[in-house]
Amino acid sequence: MSQGNDRVVGMKIECPNHEGGFDCTPFCDICEGEQEYEYTETRPCMYCEIPVDHDIWFEELGMCVDCSHKYYNGEMD
Ligand SMILES: [Zn+2]
Ligand SMILES: [Zn+2]
Repeated sequence: MSQGNDRVVGMKIECPNHEGGFDCTPFCDICEGEQEYEYTETRPCMYCEIPVDHDIWFEELGMCVDCSHKYYNGEMD
């Protein structure tokens, strides 16, 4: 199938954590203060570290859907 040459390489995405004019700090889980990060097809959930489809990961601000639901329901440990 894919040999890897058709991947998007070096594409930078603006970090979803700093929309609204707040710059990220080096403590940002996503960009570590770079304000942007390199696109990959999947990203690890910041909590459970399972690979998540990029678009979902982006919408959930770095989480998988399960962790996002737990987070917003106040069920995170
Ligand atoms: Zn950031
Ligand atoms: Zn997760």
